[in-house]
Amino acid sequence: MNLELSEEQEAVRRLARDFVEREVVPHATAWDRAEEVDRGIVKKLGEVGFLGLTIDEEYGGCGGDHLAYCLVTEELGRGDSSVRGIVSVSLGLVAKTIAARGSEEQKRAWLPGLTSGAYVGCFGLTEPGTGSDAGHLTTRAVRDGDHYVVNGTKMFITNGTWADVVLLFARSTDAPGHRGVSAFLVPMDTPGLTRRTVHGKLGLRGQATAELVLEDVRVPASAMLGEEGKGFSVAMSALAKGRMSVAAGCVGIAQAALDAAVRYAGEREQFGKTIAHHQLVQELISDIAVDLDAARLLTWRVADLIDRGQPFAVESSKAKLFASEAAVRAANNALQVFGGYGYIDEYPAGKLLRDARVMTLYEGTSQIQKLVIGRALTGVSAF
Ligand code: FAD
Repeated sequence: MNLELSEEQEAVRRLARDFVEREVVPHATAWDRAEEVDRGIVKKLGEVGFLGLTIDEEYGGCGGDHLAYCLVTEELGRGDSSVRGIVSVSLGLVAKTIAARGSEEQKRAWLPGLTSGAYVGCFGLTEPGTGSDAGHLTTRAVRDGDHYVVNGTKMFITNGTWADVVLLFARSTDAPGHRGVSAFLVPMDTPGLTRRTVHGKLGLRGQATAELVLEDVRVPASAMLGEEGKGFSVAMSALAKGRMSVAAGCVGIAQAALDAAVRYAGEREQFGKTIAHHQLVQELISDIAVDLDAARLLTWRVADLIDRGQPFAVESSKAKLFASEAAVRAANNALQVFGGYGYIDEYPAGKLLRDARVMTLYEGTSQIQKLVIGRALTGVSAF
């Protein structure tokens, strides 16, 4: 097994690192305080090709493998998880799903805009009453001639405040449970669709999270993505890849925590020597490093499986479960290294911890990942 990156992959990583140092890191604290990233960052992400990774050039993408996608996602997560999330959703959940499951017409309509950054995509699965149990969602799409009329509410939708298109999941038949769910591509300016910003988040404060309300929204039947009643499988396969992207973002958080902790430990003096000399500080730092390595290896394994066309969904759940919990531990350990200074936002550890915390919640909570892994091992679904 070769764990070395190829020259091309190293070049992608360098490109991403330079981009993040130049365009993201200098602004991350201000965006966090203002509760909004500068929207111009989307266009810049498009120009450098980070919104088109793994998408065919024919549709405006720049190709590349999933390991390259992980490397870019890791660097973005290292700089600012709010920016990382824009890419993980607009490219990872929306554009990649259109590329994999959309009709030719849908690909031509949406992919060039999404990959260039002219459009932003959002993923509308969660509702106020259904989060983990997404298969029982209640948003309704009723057929009316060559249209569907959609009513319902979506909650916690990343990019929702300023997205141009939502990959929306709604119940369109009376089939029980998830078998009645279909997927639709709905322009966000469709009459009857309104959005409300979700304020006061603990972390990812720069990210535009919204509640979407749909009242008699008319959607052409041609906007259905995939077959009627197969929408839940569209959502689950999007999330299986999406979990790898969340895991890569968590690797970025753990790397940022390690870099910050090592740097600070080499500068801060207590008891007449830098705190790097104290064994218990070294313990905090080495715990971060081990979590980081393990999270990175689990994540790269998923990318490798996808690129070789192998099954990867359970491995993606394992990577997401471990990496998200590891990122929380790593950021918390880094905060401890910073002492009281870790508790104020002039230093990076507090933001890393706040941003890491949600990773154990979205795209399936840690409990849900354990049920996915447990089902694969025992053959018993405990949902
Ligand atoms: P619940 O499902 O109510 O869970 C509450 C608790 O019960 C959790 O601890 C959970 O693990 C536990 N639990 C539930 N069922 C079981 C079970 N069977 N066994 C054991 N424990 C269980 N959604 C989208 O569709 N698109 C987005 O872009 C998006 N972005 C998000 C961004 C943010 C910042 C946040 C906070 C959420 C986002 N979400 C998004 C929603 C997210 O995916 C859900 O919050 C998540 O799936 C959990 O659902 P819930 O919040 O309703 O919690």
